Amino acid sequence: MITVAYGTLTDTVRFLLPSFCKLCGEKLVNERFYCVCESCWGKIPLVSAPYCGCCGCPLSGSVVMPGEKALLCRECRRQTPGYDMARAVGFYRAQLKDIIHLYKFAGRYHLYRPLARLMSAELASGLLPGDFELVLSAPLSAHRYRERGYDQGELLAGEIARLSGAVCLRGNLCKKKARPPQSMLGRQERMRNVRGNYYLKCPSEVKGKRLLFVDDIFTTGATASECSAVLKQAGAKAVYVFTLARGE
Ligand SMILES: [Zn+2]
Ligand SMILES: [Zn+2]
Repeated sequence: MITVAYGTLTDTVRFLLPSFCKLCGEKLVNERFYCVCESCWGKIPLVSAPYCGCCGCPLSGSVVMPGEKALLCRECRRQTPGYDMARAVGFYRAQLKDIIHLYKFAGRYHLYRPLARLMSAELASGLLPGDFELVLSAPLSAHRYRERGYDQGELLAGEIARLSGAVCLRGNLCKKKARPPQSMLGRQERMRNVRGNYYLKCPSEVKGKRLLFVDDIFTTGATASECSAVLKQAGAKAVYVFTLARGE
């Protein structure tokens, strides 16, 4: 009879078949962080203050204008976005960019758990007002869903809702048709590309509610702003945008 002399079966498998960090190649010792080692998670380039009180972009040497409660960037002064506030955990570069690529393009969907934990920890530290009832994500096109096999935004939204005691709103906010990916377009084209392309199947579900809108990357904020405007038109009380990363 074969007996396992030490530890659990998982420990034995890990000993015989060690796995390595997908980013730096170091041997993985803690499965809590999945295919990325604890050291690489610790090197994520975080966004730090001062940043725009509305869209969350980093600011340097700015001052609060008379009549304004918070620092605002030039873009937000020129045109108020559709959302109330947007924040991101880190910058879309280095370890965070690599982890997002693993998550979105390499089938490593399990990463939603440590990524949602990372986002929830930032929420708990007061990055955004914590009082929201619903969490939802930017809709993924049917084509992209078939290609990927999972909806990376909805997985994050579901886990953040679970961790924060809110409700995840699934399948209500929809995309009318697939359009070119935002990543291929410039700022003005991005705005045109998303305009009028989102709708709610059941608008009454968001009426009077404070919402957390979750997405993976915030670049110009065109998608977030357009989706937020749709939610506000349906009577949402507040829309806070929360992304893993923001472009620079
Ligand atoms: Zn590593
Ligand atoms: Zn701004």
